[in-house]
Amino acid sequence: MQIVDALKHARQQFHSSDSAQLDAEILLCSVLRCERSYLYAHPEMELSKPLIEALNKLILLRAQGHPVAYLAKQKEFWSLLFQVDENTLIPRPETEILVEETLKLIPSDIKKNILDLGTGSGAIAIAIASERPLANIMATDMSDKALRVAKLNARSQQIKNIQFKKADWFNIKEIKQYDVIVSNPPYICDDDPHLTQGDVRFEPVTALSSGSDGLNDLRTIIAEAIKHLNKQGWLLVEHGYNQAKQVQILFNENKFTSVSTIKDYSKQDRVTIGQLI
Ligand code: GLN
Repeated sequence: MQIVDALKHARQQFHSSDSAQLDAEILLCSVLRCERSYLYAHPEMELSKPLIEALNKLILLRAQGHPVAYLAKQKEFWSLLFQVDENTLIPRPETEILVEETLKLIPSDIKKNILDLGTGSGAIAIAIASERPLANIMATDMSDKALRVAKLNARSQQIKNIQFKKADWFNIKEIKQYDVIVSNPPYICDDDPHLTQGDVRFEPVTALSSGSDGLNDLRTIIAEAIKHLNKQGWLLVEHGYNQAKQVQILFNENKFTSVSTIKDYSKQDRVTIGQLI
């Protein structure tokens, strides 16, 4: 079987997916350990039997609904390649908005202290660190398994300015004072049918859902952040498309000023920020 046939075969198995071609390419690349451009440069390359078997295994799992990122064990975010597994959320493109907004608040020539709460695969902290080498970043997660993945990602991106710690939000003594606190916490309602559909079914539920209104963790983060922000410090959080109003109320109740919400690429409210005066 040649590369071109393998792609066609995989695509046919994914007929219900609107990303069938891309899924097929990513899975074949993960088997061949190559870049996607290689598939187009060598369409007639013959695949060995073990490679075809490995590909067929992945095709079967994908056809059963397993996320491509978990099967390929990687996902691109902020133009960096991140290792991911079932212990971490798969980084979403809309979370790049959170990174963009955070970078606007960190001058590149001044050393700032940054805290990333619930770092998962480390995507947010590592993207920030890659753009702000002077920043001093603390990244926390309550999952040891997620922290292991985040540390591997920091190492493979040669990032040295992040300290990783196990913590349930602010509950460790090492968490001190910061200029910027950023978080993409769980924010989906416990009974949201979205949790039982698509890729989300395979992701850690502890990273996704947060009480009956999805705001339990955001309430804790917004209320506690104030004790850990320096004067003029900023808090930035990601949230659901329909939570901006409630999240803004929480910021205002906790004495944040300059509170505003930023939309994502699909024009949905996604990130709310506020400053401590
Ligand atoms: N945005 C993600 C989703 O809709 C959820 C991410 C999160 O809960 N932090 O699946």
